[in-house]
Amino acid sequence: MTDLCALTPESILAGLSTRWAGRGMLLCARELPSTNRLLKELAKQNAPHGSVAVCDHQTAGKGRIGRRWETPAGEALTFSVLLRPRLEPLKAQLCTLAAAVAVTRAIGECCPGLDPRIKWPNDLVLGQGKCCGILSEMGMAGNTLDYVITGVGLNVNQLSFPRELEDKAVSLLGEMRRADPAAPALDRAVLLRSFLTHMESVMDALETDGFEAFRSEYEAASATIGRQVQVLAPAETYTGLALGIDDTGALLVRRENGRNETVLCGDVSVRGLMGYV
Ligand code: ATP
Repeated sequence: MTDLCALTPESILAGLSTRWAGRGMLLCARELPSTNRLLKELAKQNAPHGSVAVCDHQTAGKGRIGRRWETPAGEALTFSVLLRPRLEPLKAQLCTLAAAVAVTRAIGECCPGLDPRIKWPNDLVLGQGKCCGILSEMGMAGNTLDYVITGVGLNVNQLSFPRELEDKAVSLLGEMRRADPAAPALDRAVLLRSFLTHMESVMDALETDGFEAFRSEYEAASATIGRQVQVLAPAETYTGLALGIDDTGALLVRRENGRNETVLCGDVSVRGLMGYV
């Protein structure tokens, strides 16, 4: 684990002013199967709240429901944060929503002109294209939450994607170059530092005040709320109006038949009626 890449502890820590995010263990690797997987092992060995694993090339990145997350070497930002939040287990998925807000703020800070939106529960989009996926996994100690590992895959400097993602994926640099073909490549360490700073403040607020702490910011950045959506659940597919988010992070949907559904983050996909968003 001493195999350092351009994202080094030094480059990440330079100027970082957080209390806990990025402190504790900070592991930078050139290549890893999955940053979530590594951090899960370290969580079981008592790694502290705020520990981070980052890698230059993730070879077995996961999405939800067993899907893959593609990370080309050197161009994307792929990392996981170990959280030990004071939250009820039922609210663990709020860490995904908190990370979505923190990535949104980091993009706003580092990428002038981009307007990322959050596609509930775990993706960030720029226009119709997906630029970021977030995956949280939790561990229990008896009846209480032991840890949450929140992994982030952010497309930063990619200018092309594998054919199967061409219609769906976008990167920050790719979108910035639409407006300014001379836009320079982005510094991933700067983006990560910005994320860690915002993640710390959103998580601190979440522990104190629950989802109310960032509800209005989340909803304002949402690509889902207030829209007609298609819910692809294991047992059925239905359409309805996305009304809002409850205190556990679940999506509230009013079906066409007038019934309200609470859609949990777990195993559903939500789509716009006209496409992915
Ligand atoms: P849904 O929209 O159905 O909820 P999802 O988009 O949330 O699905 P995830 O599990 O978050 O799915 O992410 C995995 C999916 O993301 C893959 O199936 C693939 O389509 C897409 N994907 C994989 N790598 C990338 C990437 N680098 N950029 C954008 N999209 C990607």
